[in-house]
Amino acid sequence: MNLFTESNLSPDILKAIGEMGYESPTEIQKQTIPFILSDIRDLIALAQTGTGKTAAFSLPILDMIDDTSRKIQLLVLCPTRELCLQIAKDIKNYSKYMQNIKTTAVYGGSSITEQMRSLKDKPQIIVGTPGRVIDLINRKALDFSAIHWLVLDEADEMLSMGFKDELETILSETPETKQTFLFSATMNKEVERISKNYLTKPHRISVGSINEVKKNITHEYYVVGYRQKKEALKRLIDANPNQYSIIFCRTRMETQEVADFLMQNGYAADALHGDLSQAQRDTVMKKFRLKNIDILVATDVAARGLDVNSLTHVIHYSLPDDPEVFVHRSGRTGRAGKDGISMALIKPEESRKLKQIKFSTKIEINEKFIPTGDEIIKAQVGGVFEKLFTEHEDLFEFDDKLIPDLSNFTKEELVHQLLQFQLKDLALYYKDKHDLVEQKLSNRDDDYSRRDRGRDRDRGRDRDRGGDRGRERGGKPRRKNENMVRFFFNLGKKDQLKKLDVLDIINKATAGKSKKRAEIGDIEILEKFSFFEVEKSFKGDLLNNIQSMKFRGKDMRAEEAN
Ligand code: AMP
Repeated sequence: MNLFTESNLSPDILKAIGEMGYESPTEIQKQTIPFILSDIRDLIALAQTGTGKTAAFSLPILDMIDDTSRKIQLLVLCPTRELCLQIAKDIKNYSKYMQNIKTTAVYGGSSITEQMRSLKDKPQIIVGTPGRVIDLINRKALDFSAIHWLVLDEADEMLSMGFKDELETILSETPETKQTFLFSATMNKEVERISKNYLTKPHRISVGSINEVKKNITHEYYVVGYRQKKEALKRLIDANPNQYSIIFCRTRMETQEVADFLMQNGYAADALHGDLSQAQRDTVMKKFRLKNIDILVATDVAARGLDVNSLTHVIHYSLPDDPEVFVHRSGRTGRAGKDGISMALIKPEESRKLKQIKFSTKIEINEKFIPTGDEIIKAQVGGVFEKLFTEHEDLFEFDDKLIPDLSNFTKEELVHQLLQFQLKDLALYYKDKHDLVEQKLSNRDDDYSRRDRGRDRDRGRDRDRGGDRGRERGGKPRRKNENMVRFFFNLGKKDQLKKLDVLDIINKATAGKSKKRAEIGDIEILEKFSFFEVEKSFKGDLLNNIQSMKFRGKDMRAEEAN
């Protein structure tokens, strides 16, 4: 079935979807439409949002529904109000030319009496969230005795939102003769259990792998300590100008914290999570859809209700526990034939988790380094030109006479001036900022339940920019290390010397031909001078090279301390 016209669907349906611009069926539609039209078995379909799931089940059902009966024949259960409204809207569009077919959406956070009134229209199709459906069952406003088809949409999400009991109650209220279709983006134990208990010998369909790993998404990861995560995030955003992205967090609190940080730093960002009221969530989603904000910080659950196809980036601020959630999150970008980038911030102790994700999803995730100030400015310059030439619109007229005489400037000088003007704030911010300390993955156990311990470890640790090979141990008493030499250094706090500068200086002074890097020990910065420890075998290099280096214009001098 390469075209809808080959699908045996009725002319009314073909006309409606033709007007909606659907030409050929999507992968999931190719598999489910012929199945539902011809088979009486239950079905488990693994597919993500955005794959055309709604049409996949509703088109064949609309084709078979009895429009002379006024009883409920199709019940679609889904996790959120947004999804509920979206599905109901789609079904109404598909049945536009089926005069007698009525669809009603029932969901929480909205007047139940009004919904009960609309049920008096006797719709054949109900799309609802589990909680509200139960409420309506209890008020005897829903009669499920004639249900032919039951669709559990985003079953995994309904279960993770705690709708298990509601689902079981509803499933037991519907006739045994019905055909059940379970759609899920991920397959986990809970979904398996529900399907085992409530589906009979289901046929299984999956689009690609469980979660299709899209080829047009580039995956990157950045190792960063807990303390530097927000700054690293800021840099990733700055280094990817003109982005339209979702940042995924693990908890509601983290989501709000990250969104607050971005808003305080002047980004057009907002938070989307379950602690917000329905009205607040609606407002945020609307702002994001209209691109009044271009960065949305969200929990996995809250982001499910959002259907946007043009995301440029997905940022995993925190890794999910389930590798499939990683694929699912990443799959929010790279839609509609566009390329996408997925970037993950990984804490040094999360190496096992990263390995697990790589192993079970087979995704190639490449390590990248947090961009430096220079790299960010370069990217921003590129971003200015990209915007200049792709978003140009003549919105207003102005008299050329308003342009002053610029004949004394070359084209390059003018562009230079404009860029300086445009990027001034950003350039000022990064001017004296140190690059972030480069981190390496450690092989430590990264059990998430030990997160706080990891966090505390992070707090006490600051590695040098070369990674594992050097480590600052600010605390006292100092440990004597036979392989280290202690140096006196002529610069101190009065010269604005910081530990990071010392690490930088040592790395530069000891960077020889061999790839091996010097191990760095204690660094002690005093008012007028400092001390530091460096691996013994680098002593000669250090003493030689440091003489010809300068720090803020000052000569440097080091000698072995007593
Ligand atoms: P869904 O996964 O049902 O949320 O669908 C994702 C989007 O794809 C919706 O905007 C649908 O209107 C659209 N869509 C579904 N099927 C097709 C199709 N065969 N051709 C073009 N667009 C489609």
